[in-house]
Amino acid sequence: MSTLKSRYDVHWLTGQFCEYRTESMYRRIIKTRARFESCLSLILASLVFGMFAITDYQLLGFTKEYYLLVAMRIVVVSLCILLAFIIGRWGNYFRRIWLHALPLWIFATGIILIVPLRPDSLATQVTAVVVATMAFFLLIPNLLTVVTFASLYLSIGFLAAAVLFADISPVVTLRLALLLVMTNIVGFCALLRLENLQRKQFGLLQKERSQNHHLLKEIALRKDLEAQLRMVAERDALTGLNSRSHFMKRAKALLQRSRLEKKPFSLFMIDVDHFKNINDTWGHTHGDWVLTKIAEACMQSLRPTDVIGRFGGEEFMVALPDTGPDNAQIVAERLKKKVAELPLKEGMSEMRLSVTIGIALANSEEADLDSLITRADQSLYVGKRDGRNRVVMCREGREDGGS
Ligand code: GH3
Ligand code: MG
Ligand code: MG
Repeated sequence: MSTLKSRYDVHWLTGQFCEYRTESMYRRIIKTRARFESCLSLILASLVFGMFAITDYQLLGFTKEYYLLVAMRIVVVSLCILLAFIIGRWGNYFRRIWLHALPLWIFATGIILIVPLRPDSLATQVTAVVVATMAFFLLIPNLLTVVTFASLYLSIGFLAAAVLFADISPVVTLRLALLLVMTNIVGFCALLRLENLQRKQFGLLQKERSQNHHLLKEIALRKDLEAQLRMVAERDALTGLNSRSHFMKRAKALLQRSRLEKKPFSLFMIDVDHFKNINDTWGHTHGDWVLTKIAEACMQSLRPTDVIGRFGGEEFMVALPDTGPDNAQIVAERLKKKVAELPLKEGMSEMRLSVTIGIALANSEEADLDSLITRADQSLYVGKRDGRNRVVMCREGREDGGS
């Protein structure tokens, strides 16, 4: 937070950011607006400066001085309009800041040159200089430092021209000097305040943006964590199948739907035969590998609408919606066959991998999933008792043994 604060600190005298990088970023961001405003104000100022040729005529008539003044005004206006065009195309507010300042020096020179050609109308020219100074500071967008030098050039040049060509007394000179000093101070303070406010506003906006950015990153991180947590809760870490609790949730929903739609529903409980021997003979790593292979084989044999989960240890459960006794028997036999045909790791060739599957069918009076699981478990027990490697179906209280 403290780095952010210092990064957006504004210098009390120049009205610019203390940090160079922030200042350049600020100028880069406002460059399009600054360029447009420079062009517009230059064109307007040029028109106003040109229109004063009418006042020249009223004061001088068609005299030599008048023609010189008109020529000078034409040069100033043409140069400034040319500069407005150049600024519009290439006036990078970050790198070519002198290009934006150049018109100020041209206008200032033009205003100073009026004095020797129209020395009698000094009072009108003083007003014009005050207005021009304020315009320099407030209307033509430029950096405070740049404007200050151009404005000082105008004031000093005008005062010197007035002393040299308008023949003013020392008291008038002093009054004029004071007026110009005051004008410069007011213009300087007004622009300093404006630059300060604009940069502070910019700083606040940047801080808000960076906070929003952090917030978005935090939200993304939390979403990611949430997804990971959900994954941990819903998936079995070893096999990638549904965890027991998630399986129960999904199977319950499937069972309920089957009942509402009056469609058959079957449940398998699959247990790997003599799995302990695998662990004891080849170690737990091989045992884990066998479990993942069995899980893969089961997944491949099922329909996308079936739900399979790891119930615990080497036991798996499958919920099969829209599956009656005949289809359940076919699917279970296919599963059993697929497991038996699983290619095993090197060195495990003498092993005979088999599963026993207990099937329970949901009848209309079936109370809930738990009682269905109990019946599937009973079928499985019968299968184990009768020699394993078989499918046993529990049909309303009696078991139908398979191969
Ligand atoms: P049965 O034919 O009667 O089912 O015999 P079994 O050996 O398969 O059954 P038993 O319940 O005696 O042994 C199951 C073994 O499964 C015991 C346990 O160490 C092992 N087991 C449970 N979970 C895992 C596991 O995640 N990885 C491995 N490698 N073994 C596991
Ligand atoms: Mg078991
Ligand atoms: Mg077992």
